[in-house]
Amino acid sequence: MPELPEVETIARGLANAIVGKTIAAVSVSMAKIAIAPAGRDFAPELPGEIVAGVARRAKFIVIALASGRRLTVHLRMTGRLIYQPAGSRQPYPYTHISIDFTDDSRVMFADVRQFGRMRLLERDEVWDADGGIEPLSEGFTCELFLSMLDGRRTPIKAFLLDQSRISGVGNIYACEALWEAGIRPGRPAHKVSKPARRRLHSAIRGVLARSIEARGTSVDDYVDAEGLKGGFQNQLSVYGRLGEPCPRCGKPIVRTVISQRGTWWCRACQK
Ligand SMILES: [Zn+2]
Repeated sequence: MPELPEVETIARGLANAIVGKTIAAVSVSMAKIAIAPAGRDFAPELPGEIVAGVARRAKFIVIALASGRRLTVHLRMTGRLIYQPAGSRQPYPYTHISIDFTDDSRVMFADVRQFGRMRLLERDEVWDADGGIEPLSEGFTCELFLSMLDGRRTPIKAFLLDQSRISGVGNIYACEALWEAGIRPGRPAHKVSKPARRRLHSAIRGVLARSIEARGTSVDDYVDAEGLKGGFQNQLSVYGRLGEPCPRCGKPIVRTVISQRGTWWCRACQK
């Protein structure tokens, strides 16, 4: 599933490609994926709208329209947002929504497993993803993170995956940040020491920033808005590397399950 760096990369690519463009036509071939405000149809609402901006909030891509309305997109497991410039339009597999612009370019929402959603929000509709804090924002201070773990008995890895607390960190970056900070993923959050919490705060921000720099991690279906793979899969320390040597101590990486999610870590140097 795309996490913060992958969604950020897609949003930046789309921002470069479609801001200022006018929507000419929209077609929807899978109704459950396109959600309109109650009582209205999705496709007829959009022609004539101008794209004012594209940004990321949590794991959502948010397309702001000049009318003040917004399109929010969650890619879930296998969703893709693919941009095709004018003159290079061609069919894309599993396309369920096509947004065509007046310059003959388009954005397609493709999704093999059909769990992704594109939703049109009204101008004044209150929406804040799942409510967690953005880990790369100024507001996510070390002091705040330290206090967030107080009294939390859940495993630290499960805490990191809770989107109502911290936005956009999924399985890949939780595994990588815990390895970098030297913390056992199953350790109850409130039992992580103050120095370890500081290391983890720094590791979360560091791994996310480095992955954005590398245009995300392509270990499954993720591609950017141009249909290209990211590069951070070549920099992963533990995720998906069962049995390979830990880059820090050389002992083999193990895989366990925490909160139903595969968890890769080093028994020797994560405490
Ligand atoms: Zn190790």
